[in-house]
Amino acid sequence: MRTLTVTIVHSLCLLAPFNYKWEALRFGMLTEASSSQNGSNILSLTPLFSLFRGDPMDWVSIHRFHHQFTDTNRDPHSPKEGFLFSHVMWIFDTFYIKYKCGRRNNVMDLKRQWFYRFLRNTIFLHVLMFWTVLYLYGGLPYLTYVGGVATAFGYHVTWLVNSACHIWGSGSWKTKDTSRNVWWLSLFTMGESWHNNHHAFESSARQGLEWWQIDITWYLIRLFEILGLATDVKLPSEFQKQKISWKEIWLKYAAKKMVYLEAKVLSKLPHGSFYNVEYKNLVTEGEDPQPLVETISADEIRPMPPKLSQPSMFSLHDKVDAFDLDAWWFGGITGQEGDTYSVYFPTTNDVCKYPLQRLRRHLEFVNGQWVPSTTRQR
Ligand SMILES: [Zn+2]
Ligand SMILES: [Zn+2]
Repeated sequence: MRTLTVTIVHSLCLLAPFNYKWEALRFGMLTEASSSQNGSNILSLTPLFSLFRGDPMDWVSIHRFHHQFTDTNRDPHSPKEGFLFSHVMWIFDTFYIKYKCGRRNNVMDLKRQWFYRFLRNTIFLHVLMFWTVLYLYGGLPYLTYVGGVATAFGYHVTWLVNSACHIWGSGSWKTKDTSRNVWWLSLFTMGESWHNNHHAFESSARQGLEWWQIDITWYLIRLFEILGLATDVKLPSEFQKQKISWKEIWLKYAAKKMVYLEAKVLSKLPHGSFYNVEYKNLVTEGEDPQPLVETISADEIRPMPPKLSQPSMFSLHDKVDAFDLDAWWFGGITGQEGDTYSVYFPTTNDVCKYPLQRLRRHLEFVNGQWVPSTTRQR
């Protein structure tokens, strides 16, 4: 069914050069903009148009499998099987999905609701009806531009979340998958392309977590919440954010806890408060270097310090961390020449010179609070 719709929609696009009409294209863009959704959040607003993406139970089931098995060989659409596969080809391979994921028994909550069963049983009628209404209203140009071009555009934007958002872009959370935030897609996907955020906090209604991460879906949900139409809207807590972000590890063996390295917590050991951590920049020795994993006690781990605005200058005796050899080293300013500072390191008794950009204000994490340095030097 979905395969057939996808094929017909793309075939309609072939008629585009012969049926061009600006009105029809504009109407198509408007309807598409109101329903550009990967999931089913806004489905209820534009049910007809969204059904082109297939039966909601089907979509939700596949998407839940995607979250459950992200980037493993049971993921319904991982780019590990190629860009084209994750983008579109998986849609045509229903047997393969069944083989990988098994029966669709992960949507029982939807199966229990008559509304979704009704949509499943009548989906083809909805799509057919939509095409008929389009044709009766605006003839072939509307059918081509709304039912074809705009729908195909919507398809590819949605699919790019599955393909591009697992290949390009950047990620700020240490998820175990290849998910990425792709900023340039965020306008077209109404915020769905903050996909690394989405995999990090799957149940968060907000995907653009920073103020500058445009997330139109979130703005709408927030509006509905203010109007009292949406309740129990979920957002990631500070604790959840801390748990999944990069941490800094004190390197004890470098004496006096004065070197900080970025690492992520892999697991907690069953006894005592010890953790296995994987360093971001340290690798094992040997021919095939792997990220270095070590067991660290809880008091050697602290969250990443808040990113303070970089001071325009440091003064004599300021406590700073200097970035060198992939780590932050604690020291104090002992001199300045233009933008270059001399830093004294009490751990090694060295003095080295650093440009301003490689220095940060030294902060200590005491009882869950960040405080300016109290460490006496010299
Ligand atoms: Zn998702
Ligand atoms: Zn994903």
